[in-house]
Amino acid sequence: MSIISDHLGIRNHHLTIGGVDTVSLTQKYGTPLYVLDEDRVRRNFRTFRGAFPDADLYYAAKANWNLSILRIIASEGAGADVFSDGELYAALLAGIPPERILFNGNSKTLNELQMAVDTGVRVSMDSLHELYALSDLAVKSGKTVDVAFRVNPDVSPDTHPKIATGLAASKFGIGYADVVEAYKEAKKLGGVRPVGIHCHIGSQILDVAPFGEAVEKMMDMVEQITRLGVDLKFVDLGGGLGIPYQEGMEAPEPRDLAGAVLPTFNERSKSIGIAPKLILEPGRYIVGDAGVLLTGVNTVKKAAKTFVGVDSGLNLLIRPAMYDAYHEVVVANKADVAGTETYDVVGPICESGDVIAKDRELPSVEPGDVVAVLDVGAYGFSMSSQYNGRCRCAEVLISAGGVDLIRGQESYGDLLAKQVLPARLL
Ligand SMILES: *Cc1c(COP(=O)(O)O)cnc(C)c1O
Repeated sequence: MSIISDHLGIRNHHLTIGGVDTVSLTQKYGTPLYVLDEDRVRRNFRTFRGAFPDADLYYAAKANWNLSILRIIASEGAGADVFSDGELYAALLAGIPPERILFNGNSKTLNELQMAVDTGVRVSMDSLHELYALSDLAVKSGKTVDVAFRVNPDVSPDTHPKIATGLAASKFGIGYADVVEAYKEAKKLGGVRPVGIHCHIGSQILDVAPFGEAVEKMMDMVEQITRLGVDLKFVDLGGGLGIPYQEGMEAPEPRDLAGAVLPTFNERSKSIGIAPKLILEPGRYIVGDAGVLLTGVNTVKKAAKTFVGVDSGLNLLIRPAMYDAYHEVVVANKADVAGTETYDVVGPICESGDVIAKDRELPSVEPGDVVAVLDVGAYGFSMSSQYNGRCRCAEVLISAGGVDLIRGQESYGDLLAKQVLPARLL
């Protein structure tokens, strides 16, 4: 397997990321360890920006909301798509301007809506109940909130069912048939100003055609809403561009996405007679390939198959268990050694589904080796848990050959920090 790319390489038989030896990183910080490459994040962002020079890019914070990543994103001039109060808190703390934050979510609490009112972010609303609640809170606070509706365009991207979000039966968004009514309602209410329209059809999409279909449907709605007298300032097409997780996998680039959406967006805007801002919300594309998870080998066991038991599992990387996701794995300290044996790489979690990689040809593996799981910068650490009483691992950031710790390893104290023993159990 060829792992060499712009940011991954091999030196002295060891895998490097951003020019830094991954094995020496594990000697200093231990395993498991998440490693993120700042230069790669910036480069990915700039590639996306280059394909959409006139659009606003709202990074999807849920992909990776480590504060350092959000700071990098902020310094690139991006906005953010946030899906919770916690992500909003982190995005603001990182310096992303509130007017460039869109607060998403299909079931926001009143506290979250109040936070949106207080901080002055834009809100993507997912139901009429939410519209009424937000209007109420904004009026009571004497404020007006810029809002969009999340629309369900009913397009079917070819991706894992758990990450297709724009199907008719999806929980997300307002049905196509109800959109005009929703904007009519919004126009009548105080405290809210409908200024945008939003959709997000899914994630890890490897064919740009569904985006083309979505923009057609969105612009049909834009036309109808504009006729109501709504002055649409933005059309947000969400995120979802996939990345090639597997050697040989073909994945579109941002310029392909631009080719699929920009002509329709521009022509239709012109014919409707408006000039809304286009917004895109890439998450995975920006950070996905910028991260590796380094995990130490505890055991190698020959049974019906040969199992490599490593020290991180679905607690730190749930994508294989949750989406049947494929991640390339490399023995980081034997990175230039050809594969000779077939292994299943499995985590330490008490679940038979805790398999990181199945049937992989790797060089002979022994306890003490380090396995690198590639392309884990998105939906890796951000989906981690403390299941099985395991402390989350540290995260480091590589930049220009230097290394910074950006999250320490959790302690047993962290595991139990919020637990309270009632006095009668003392
Ligand atoms: C998850 C999400 C994104 C980002 O999706 P990616 O596949 O990571 O690009 C963008 N917008 C919304 C509303 C989302 O829920």
